Parts: sequence; C-alpha cells; structure tokens
Amino acid sequence: MKIGAKIFKALSRTRSLISEPLKALKRRKIDESLLLQLEESLIASDVGINITEIIIDKLRNNKTDNAIGLIQEILLAHLSDQNDIPAIPSKSVVFLVGVNGTGKTTTTAKLANLLSKQNLKIFMVGADTYRAAAAEQLEEWAQRLKMNIVSNAQSGDPGAVLFDGLKSAKKNNSDVVIVDTAGRLHTYKNLMAELEKMVRLVNRHFPEFNIVSLLIIDANIGQNSLIQAHEFTQLFKIDGVILTKMDGTAKGGIAFPLFDELNIPVMYVGVGEKLDDLIPFNAKEYIKSIIGVDVHND
Ligand code: GDP
Repeated sequence: MKIGAKIFKALSRTRSLISEPLKALKRRKIDESLLLQLEESLIASDVGINITEIIIDKLRNNKTDNAIGLIQEILLAHLSDQNDIPAIPSKSVVFLVGVNGTGKTTTTAKLANLLSKQNLKIFMVGADTYRAAAAEQLEEWAQRLKMNIVSNAQSGDPGAVLFDGLKSAKKNNSDVVIVDTAGRLHTYKNLMAELEKMVRLVNRHFPEFNIVSLLIIDANIGQNSLIQAHEFTQLFKIDGVILTKMDGTAKGGIAFPLFDELNIPVMYVGVGEKLDDLIPFNAKEYIKSIIGVDVHND
C-alpha cells in the first residue's frame, strides 16, 4: 500500500467525524448551526481550539464559495512546511523517548526497518533497562530484521548499555544508531536526568554522531499528549514527534496543536503494529486524509 493510502486508511475515524459538516458546507449556505457542528467536530478530532477558532471565524466572516479550500489553506498554514522537517542524517544517534506504552520499542524496530530501506546501516540499542520485556522484545525484532543490537536487561545502567552499543556500532561502521529508552522512572525529572546523561555520553565519547531526539506520542490520548510533550520539552531538547497508533483513533488532528502550540514537527506516523506500519509524515497527505478527498471532489 502506498504511503498516502496508508495514512488515508488510518485516519478514517477522524475523517468520518468531520466529513458530515464539511459535506454540508458544500451543499448549503453557511449558517450558525452548521458552524457549530463543524466547530464541535474539529475540537473532537483534536485539531485544537486555536485553529478551530480561526477556521470558524474565517468562514463566518468571509463570503466564499470554496469553504473547503479555505479550510485546507488554514490547516496547511498551521503545519510545519514539509521542507522544514529534518531528515535523519547518516552518523546519527536517534533517541526514542516517551512514556511507557506509547510504542517506543515497536517504533524502534519500525524505524530501523524504514531507514535500512534508505540504505542506511542501522544499529539498535535497547537502553530501556527498567522493563526487562522491552529488551527481549527488541532482540526478537533485531533477529527478524537481521540487524545488530546491544541490549542488556540485567545491566540496570542504560548509560553502560549505550556505551557498549556505540562502541560496537562504530566498529561496525553503522550509519544510524536507534536507542530505545526507558519510559518510567520515579519522576519526570529523574527520567530527563537519565536522558541528559546519555546525551552527554554521546557528546563526550562519540562526538562524530549527531543527536536526534524523537518523542513518541500515542495519538489516542489526544489533548493529554500536549501535556506530555510540554513536560518533555521543558526538560529535554526534542527534535520531532512520532505519532503512534494513528490507526483507529478519532483524535487524529493532534499534529496541528503539537506544531501550532509547541512548535514540534511530527516526523513519522505509526499506522499499525507491523514492521511496515511507520510512514514519514507528509502535511498534504495528512490534511487530505482528515478532510477527505471525497469532500474535495464531489
Ligand atoms: P513502549 O512501552 O513505549 O516500548 O511500547 P511498545 O512498543 O511495547 O508498544 C505498546 C503497544 O502498542 C504494543 O502492543 C504495540 O504493538 C502497540 N503499538 C505501537 N505502535 C502502534 C501503532 O502505530 N498502531 C497500533 N495499532 N499499535 C501500536
């Protein structure tokens, strides 16, 4: 399945939430009851209050016979330009961070799979030493992918595991090292301190590697993800987000407030549990999937 088709399928519930008022917009004159219906749908799909208000105000005040075009334009203006989304360069250490259960371990394998198809030599590091199952899970993925991995659930010291991993990755001449990190410590502060320690380790001992930190967010938790993202960005430099579990959620609009309110671009989207279910984020495909090509074409 093509990338566009995958995101379109994943966002079907979000799309069905807002497609009714959008279809009505094409059929009849804009009135307050229609605007209210649209407002409620946009808020329910987590596009965010700010963007919803801009859309409703513009529709209320502009006499336009291309309401859908106007909405598309506003949505596009509130997402990072595709060209601004940084690609993961060769010689990078990619930290996948986020709370437990968001999909870090699975995404480590999916990202390894995706980047290896771009001819990058991948090395995986299982640095979630607090959840024994995470190391086992990742080792299974590595076996299936036939990729090199260092992980040690017994170690209890993510820094030591990372050091071993980077030493091997260097010897191996790997291009990208993907690091699965812990999602739970006693407090956010402890968690961030641990992440910071790992960043310092790379800078001090392996300065030839760029550092890319990606926050894994479960799309199902909607507005709560903004709180999570805010907590992380307060204490740790985040370069982008991977939105997981977009398949099946009706709250698929969350990429908008993440960028609009926190200035964090979504870089990849998880659309299922299989290895191939991670796709690069594309603003236009995303908007098309939310407002529906049917609406645009009929
Ligand atoms: P971690 O605790 O952050 O490492 O989370 P895991 O990688 O163990 O994932 C938690 C659960 O979410 C697993 O059952 C995964 O299969 C599932 N999961 C991860 N990403 C996706 C996704 O994009 N779509 C769906 N449907 N499930 C996902």
